[in-house]
Amino acid sequence: MTRCGVVALAGKPNVGKSTLLNALVGEHLAIVSPKPQSTRLPVVGLLTRADTQFIFTDSPGLLEPEYKLHETMRAAALRAIADAEVIAYLHPLAAYPAPELASVARLEKPPRAPVMTVYTKADLVPPSDRPTVRPSDRVVSAVRGEGLDALLDLLRDQLPESPFHYDPDAMATQPMRFFAAEFVREAAFELLQEELPYSVAVEIDEFREGQEPVYIRAVVYVERASQKGIVIGEGGRTIKAIGQTARGKIEALLGTRVFLELHAKVLPKWRRQLSSLKRLGYAG
Ligand code: GDP
Ligand code: MG
Repeated sequence: MTRCGVVALAGKPNVGKSTLLNALVGEHLAIVSPKPQSTRLPVVGLLTRADTQFIFTDSPGLLEPEYKLHETMRAAALRAIADAEVIAYLHPLAAYPAPELASVARLEKPPRAPVMTVYTKADLVPPSDRPTVRPSDRVVSAVRGEGLDALLDLLRDQLPESPFHYDPDAMATQPMRFFAAEFVREAAFELLQEELPYSVAVEIDEFREGQEPVYIRAVVYVERASQKGIVIGEGGRTIKAIGQTARGKIEALLGTRVFLELHAKVLPKWRRQLSSLKRLGYAG
């Protein structure tokens, strides 16, 4: 009998959830940034290994909401925890020991699913300084690919016996236009300074597959006219750089050449307005 189920990667912002998802799946699916709170929507990554299919969900970090977008992010993170068969609760090894998930997430009651504590970014702690973790915990370094097999062995034991839900070769469940929008946002996180990336949202206007290069047109939304000027940059330099960076990422995932056209537009205060959040897919 095979095993299959959902493993939620949970934890505070910036603990390495998205990086771990990518390392486990072996593909860059979830956007990663040194800036916290880059993940806004759950990303699903699949890994089928021998008799087990892991359905990983990388959710927004558990945080105190400051505005409407944060509320929808927190709701998505809590839903992911509630829906999982197993929760991998990530915490940096350098900040050992991890506080209880229920207190970090301010859960009213402990989650239904078993929680495994996974200490991340082990490469940042010299071996001589590494604490001895409980036998039921795991220590990983996603950037070095360390500890991943031991983590998978532990998670496997917690998954229910079930047929596979997806094709064993599949790595993603979300449409390519979702990833295209996310990679434009990831490029914005890389190339724009300070708080500006948090005001950026991306909408795919057109996605024409079945041709080479694949044609994608996207709108980069910001909240104010002054931000639009910065995103465009002198002579269009900045938006061009964002497009080039994003195109490389999309091409790597699609495995074909891509023509990416970006436009900047203002959607006033979109982070605080439910109608805008719905339109952008951030609220149900
Ligand atoms: P998330 O907010 O929990 O999804 O965290 P990310 O996956 O976006 O990672 C946050 C930051 O930590 C990024 O700059 C990553 O490159 C870095 N990071 C993640 N995993 C590791 C790791 O194993 N080792 C080191 N040194 N850095 C890591
Ligand atoms: Mg993330």
